[in-house]
Amino acid sequence: MTHPRNLSLAEMDRQSVFHPVSSIDDVMRNGPSVYTSAAGVMLRNAAGRDLIDMGAGLWCVNAGYGRAELADASAKAMRELSYQHLFGGASCEATILLADRLLGLFRERAGAPQMARVFFGTSGSDANDTAFKLVRYYNNLRGLPKKKKVISRIGAYHGLTYAATSLTGIEAYHKAFDLPIADVVHTSCPHHYTFSLPGESEQAFSDRMVADLETLIAREGAETIAAFIAEPVMGTGGVFLPPADYFARVQQVLDANDILFIADEIITGFGRTGQWFGTGTYNLRPDIVSLAKGLTSAYFPMSANMVSDRIWSVLENASPEVGAFMHGFTYSGHPVGSAVALANIDLIEREGMVENAAALAPRFVTALRDRLGDNPFIGDIRSVGLMAGVEFVADRAKRTAFPAGTGPHRIVARHAIEAGVLTRALPFIPVNSFSPPLSITAGEIDEAMDRYAAAVTSAMPELIALLKS
Ligand code: PMP
Repeated sequence: MTHPRNLSLAEMDRQSVFHPVSSIDDVMRNGPSVYTSAAGVMLRNAAGRDLIDMGAGLWCVNAGYGRAELADASAKAMRELSYQHLFGGASCEATILLADRLLGLFRERAGAPQMARVFFGTSGSDANDTAFKLVRYYNNLRGLPKKKKVISRIGAYHGLTYAATSLTGIEAYHKAFDLPIADVVHTSCPHHYTFSLPGESEQAFSDRMVADLETLIAREGAETIAAFIAEPVMGTGGVFLPPADYFARVQQVLDANDILFIADEIITGFGRTGQWFGTGTYNLRPDIVSLAKGLTSAYFPMSANMVSDRIWSVLENASPEVGAFMHGFTYSGHPVGSAVALANIDLIEREGMVENAAALAPRFVTALRDRLGDNPFIGDIRSVGLMAGVEFVADRAKRTAFPAGTGPHRIVARHAIEAGVLTRALPFIPVNSFSPPLSITAGEIDEAMDRYAAAVTSAMPELIALLKS
């Protein structure tokens, strides 16, 4: 198909689009991958090929593609009230209903202390920047202006705005931008398979991770630390499940040092782990919860922070004296996004997608293990709910890595596209991740895994060649 200026879409892209998180060199050499339409779990590219999207976009299309209910909700909302801000106490129906719904969902489904209020934004990154500012605000109100630092973890992904990039614990996102900022410190990455010592049990490893956190707090001084931020399951880092007891012990350390817990549920919220929230899956007790992605199944860019009573009561009591809370965005609580989020939550509930994720979880990981468990380059296959990681190693017995910079998982991801399935090649350690729409069927999982296994097989000669290079 040709377009204005007689260029193909791919060529227009090369000449005009500045791609986020992409190699400029790759795009200039190979052009973009253009997609045209999608339905359910299937994504169609510009060549007319259908791919099974085992990533649900970027872990976000929880309800699947092409849902008319969500398109209708957005069209209706745009006709009724296409925009309304929330500044200066302004509000609107959809946003009020959504805030109330989120608090209710969390109260009923997360098994955690009740949250008091919901603050809205437009992306996961801005939600974590909001959390970062909020803990400062809170401690300023408490008369603790030195208590400002936030502890994150190596391998964490919390977004790419200024504070969120700093919270992210992956060097590739930092080094060209002179980040992280000084008020963020990183503690050890709690991924047992890759970072345990030889022979170290999961429990001993978990104990060591908690001891590292305590050492860091002692070094920095608890009086300088406001919060600890964590994804219940670390996604972009490599689908790292928390080791035994980890969060229970971390929570004790936080409590002992008056440190708030920010749960980044941007991936794990809305059913990914087989429960509504990772907070429920791992028994967390967060003070702030960041939500995005599955909140609208990516039909509208929207995020939210739920804030606990502990924080809210301080803000509320101080308000008459300190004046307005001077943070927020033009699109905070957008009525169209709110209507889409409400319709999305209805859809997930009505079609039992969280229950579907829980029911299919064993089949999902078994499908991976049956096909790939014996592969000499696959060291670990792990999953919770409909979220899985396949980790590549050069030598399974010794758990040694492929030579630096070789990217076996990127080679496999390229073969996977050829085989008709999309997986992600993650940036921290060599892992392909899987996070399909929660509407996926058993048959679609099997088909996707057949295609992925075929891709691993066809990539084998290139993987072997990496070791000889
Ligand atoms: N936190 C987590 C855990 C994420 O996975 C992401 C996005 N992958 C973000 C934050 C940032 O979200 P966004 O890209 O919408 O800013």
